[in-house]
Amino acid sequence: MTNLLITGGAGFIGSNFVRYWCKKYPRDRVVVLDALTYAGNQQNLSTLEGQNSFRFVRGDIRDRVLLDTLLETETIDAIVHFAAESHVDRSIISPDAFLQTNIFGTYTLLEACRHARNPISRFLHVSTDEVYGSLGPEDPPCAETTPYSPNSPYAASKASSDHLVRAYHQTYGLPTLITNSSNNYGPYQFPEKLIPLMCVNILLGKPLPVYGDGQNVRDWLFVADHCRALDCVLTRGQPGETYNIGGDNQVTNIDLVTMLCQLMDQLVPDLPIQPSQRAIAFVRDRPGHDRRYALNSRKIREELGWTPGVSLEEGLGETARWYRDRRDWWQPLLEGSGGAGGAGGELYLIFNF
Ligand code: NAD
Repeated sequence: MTNLLITGGAGFIGSNFVRYWCKKYPRDRVVVLDALTYAGNQQNLSTLEGQNSFRFVRGDIRDRVLLDTLLETETIDAIVHFAAESHVDRSIISPDAFLQTNIFGTYTLLEACRHARNPISRFLHVSTDEVYGSLGPEDPPCAETTPYSPNSPYAASKASSDHLVRAYHQTYGLPTLITNSSNNYGPYQFPEKLIPLMCVNILLGKPLPVYGDGQNVRDWLFVADHCRALDCVLTRGQPGETYNIGGDNQVTNIDLVTMLCQLMDQLVPDLPIQPSQRAIAFVRDRPGHDRRYALNSRKIREELGWTPGVSLEEGLGETARWYRDRRDWWQPLLEGSGGAGGAGGELYLIFNF
């Protein structure tokens, strides 16, 4: 039996992982620590409230006193660290919070673990493929040994946190594990990221902004597949190691948006703009926009036996149906009344064209 501390567990991937873990390992104790920024939403975990084995704590990973108290009183023996500022566009507009949470927050958590009375047996740091930087069309996918080359403040802050995590293993023997995954999508993703933004805008009959020429390539990973991969790494990964988690679904942004439009046209016969593809609008490119990401995930496949199980078509279908059916979840976020921070009109600031 494990006492797990999950940081950022009220966010997109974190909340999917918490629900996955509590269902699969009902005997484990799960403590979620989340600051409930605009991206965190306690309602994502509402099905677990009231269960004895689950506790939600609103707090900041930079709060060392709180971390020390939680590690001790909950006798935490494993950590899954999701908490981060995660949106590249926001990092370009305002990098400060990214450095604060992603770098200083991770450092504070590492320090708390290093000094914890109860030894930490696993520290899983959840990171991104963006640390490897941009690939050309013919470049091979990035492996765990590819040098880091981050291009946005977000990617640089995650790269920095990865280095700290590695250093705490090398220097202090903390049993750390790092995962670098490709772009995730699925239910409960805040509608500022590409796929949920498109789903919501198609349903509302709003423009569908696509950066630059739309030819940027991303490798899409369904969030449930990511959760299974994190389970493999947490339970069977080798401390000190890094594992890439790729979806094996490389597609250009414009092709992805077109697929979503076609799906939504089928799912919702009375869309405000039909066919919804008519709403696609190319907008000025994001500064420093990486052209292509691709991951070589041979290590996790061969050593831990993980493979992605959900095709892009299946995953997009499930995601599109979820956003169609869960207006009650996303509508308040647009109006600024949902989530702890309330997003207000900010969603459209980023894509203000
Ligand atoms: P998210 O933005 O949806 O959630 C982040 C969560 O962290 C939120 O609940 C937020 O309230 C919380 N948080 C932020 N600052 C905090 C702080 N100082 N203290 C405590 N909690 C804080 O992010 P996500 O998309 O779920 O990503 C989770 C992790 O996975 C991040 O570390 C991200 O870098 C990484 N990742 C994401 C993707 C992706 O495609 N979304 C891909 C690869 C890796």
